[in-house]
Amino acid sequence: MDQKGYIIGATTFLIMIPVIFICISLLDLFHEENIINYQSIESDSISYTFKDIKRNIPIFTRQIIENKSLEVIENNKTINNSSQIIKAELEYKTHNFTKNYDKFNTSYVVKSIQSYSDDPFYIEVNSSLWITQGHVIHHENFSQLISIQGLNDPLPFIKCKNYGTITSKGHTINYGDILANYLKNKGLNSSIYYQNATSPLIIKKCPYEPYSTHGNLNNLKNCLDNGFFHESNDGSCYLCRLEGKGSCSHYGIETFILPPPLNSSNLNSINNASCCIDHVIFGETNYPGKLINYFQENESEYVLFLENGHQSKYGILNKIKD
Ligand SMILES: [Zn+2]
Ligand SMILES: [Zn+2]
Repeated sequence: MDQKGYIIGATTFLIMIPVIFICISLLDLFHEENIINYQSIESDSISYTFKDIKRNIPIFTRQIIENKSLEVIENNKTINNSSQIIKAELEYKTHNFTKNYDKFNTSYVVKSIQSYSDDPFYIEVNSSLWITQGHVIHHENFSQLISIQGLNDPLPFIKCKNYGTITSKGHTINYGDILANYLKNKGLNSSIYYQNATSPLIIKKCPYEPYSTHGNLNNLKNCLDNGFFHESNDGSCYLCRLEGKGSCSHYGIETFILPPPLNSSNLNSINNASCCIDHVIFGETNYPGKLINYFQENESEYVLFLENGHQSKYGILNKIKD
């Protein structure tokens, strides 16, 4: 090779160096972009999975609680420590569901299940969910509310089970002579008024708010005909109802247990009977209520027995003649 040849070769080489560097940089960039794209796809996929699991947790919780209430009603069971049992079943069910997404590592823990303190018609579930794949991790603590409306009230079934099997028709529990025997066993002479009493089977939230509007007797009658439940400091929450507790320390719910209509001619001979609110009938402390006739049809008097506290809560105090 002559001298000219060397010069051209060296120049070409010098020109090639930046080209090689540019190529290497472009390759790096392409590789990095691939990693970023891959991570973004991975992260989108985790995010979708996370949302899907999270969306199913309230559905699972409601199914589990509904099954527990059916175990009480159909199999005469009492669910001791209901929140622990529901927690364990919810973790198990959610864990099984995550097997649909077996390319991820998933961990799910129920931190608590309790009656929602702002509205006892909901149960609050606090959860912690982790999903990982490689070095991408998604973790959230979250709280979800599950409605108890439409579920059966398990409490009367647990309380009355030693006195016979209560029956239900449509949305109504019929006690036959079972509730009267239950009250008689508690030493209450007025138990006779609860022969053939009824109470709501299904939890439905009363729309008449504030509750004092029950002082309008049309509202009261509609409420009683529909079997509505009301928020209550003394009434037990749904989770405690599954345990057979007539009252509890949580913010709970209450409903009316309705004595059958009385004959108008008998009305003057009746004064007091056990207060007809369910947490009084089924709770630890029973107290009497004054007779209130809220509706009359032919010779039938539709009555409640309420003490001053509940008369006041429902706006009935001093509205109905003695
Ligand atoms: Zn009501
Ligand atoms: Zn409770």
